[in-house]
Amino acid sequence: MGTEHGAICNSCGHKFRAREGPSMIRELLHCERCGGERWISLLDVPFRSDDKETEELAGRCACGGQYKVHARARCPRCKSSDWREDPEELALFYD
Ligand SMILES: [Zn+2]
Ligand SMILES: [Zn+2]
Repeated sequence: MGTEHGAICNSCGHKFRAREGPSMIRELLHCERCGGERWISLLDVPFRSDDKETEELAGRCACGGQYKVHARARCPRCKSSDWREDPEELALFYD
C-alpha cells in the first residue's frame, strides 16, 4: 500500500507532499535524478516480472534519468532526496 505524506527537505527546508510505494493496481517509480514520478499500471507489467522489467517499461525521464522502483521521492525545489517526514502533516493512504 502506498502512502502520501508531508515531507520537509533537510537541504532547503521546503515542505512538500511525498508519495511512495505501490498501490493495488499501480506501481510508483521515481526518477533517480530529478525525482519525477512515473506511474505504471500493473496490468501492463508481465506477470511475476521483477523490478528491472518494470523499470524498463517505465523508460527514461525527460531529464535523462532512469525511473527506479526504489528511488526516493525528491524535493521539488532543490531535488534533494534528503528529507524527513513532517509530523504535522497527515499521511494519506492511496488504494
Ligand atoms: Zn529542498
Ligand atoms: Zn528525471
